[in-house]
Amino acid sequence: MKLINSIDEIKKIKKENTTIGFVPTMGYLHEGHVSLIKRAREENDMVITSIFVNPTQFGPNEDFEKYPRDEKRDLQKCEENGCDIVFLPQKEEMYPNDFLTYVEVEELGKSLCGKSRPTHFRGVTTVLTKLFNIIKPDKAYFGQKDAQQLIIVKKMVEDLNMDVEIIGCPIVREKDGLAISSRNTYLSPEERKDALLLNKSLILAKDLIENGEKNISTIRSEMEKTILLGKNNTIDYIDFVDIEKLNPVSEIQDKVLIAIAVETGKTRLIDNMVVEL
Ligand code: AMP
Repeated sequence: MKLINSIDEIKKIKKENTTIGFVPTMGYLHEGHVSLIKRAREENDMVITSIFVNPTQFGPNEDFEKYPRDEKRDLQKCEENGCDIVFLPQKEEMYPNDFLTYVEVEELGKSLCGKSRPTHFRGVTTVLTKLFNIIKPDKAYFGQKDAQQLIIVKKMVEDLNMDVEIIGCPIVREKDGLAISSRNTYLSPEERKDALLLNKSLILAKDLIENGEKNISTIRSEMEKTILLGKNNTIDYIDFVDIEKLNPVSEIQDKVLIAIAVETGKTRLIDNMVVEL
């Protein structure tokens, strides 16, 4: 496995007749990331993972500085799971002092997480545009864990005619159902218990819907009660939206994305489920 820091160097990797599967990450790799790397390994000649804590997707009061980092362990996980190249760009090279250009998918980045993180998705789409231009992957792998991000990235690729196929992969959970996230490491044991209620509330919603409940206020209120059983939980949103435009749905019909964001203690957690009738 090769490590590359320089943009010029990794730009030379793409060869004709060799497919590249790309997994963009912010590091502190876990089984969720590993599932993407494994899928990329199955479907491509070459696998490139990037590790870059992207400053432009963090708001001024967010956790950029304290975001967990463990390069040594990350490199080991990449190697074990069949990565060919790990790209570790430098912040100064990605965003030099005279950097001026941003890529923004309008509307889709304003709802759900965009309400409390207004510049987050602009940062994500900007860094991904740069990484796609630098690496020129055939396929790029994203987790359904970040459902809004996946929808936005697909739209960006479609709208800007980018030559990359976006592959969405299922959410990987701990045995007890907690969606795996690098931020779970911030949770105290008590908060960790409260965090489980996110997935519990989604399962409850699914059961209600499968038993014929169509009223969103009723379902939301049951979910709220479940999440707030956790004394450390504060709800940011529980939204029911369509999976293309992320518009709120007024009643449960054939397919709905239920997306939630909760502050557990000081840690912001997200989870979601697509329910199909
Ligand atoms: P991050 O390092 O948090 O930016 O995540 C990098 C990629 O891993 C994104 O496409 C995430 O959606 C994906 N990912 C993070 N957690 C999970 C998970 N629990 N299951 C599946 N994919 C995940």
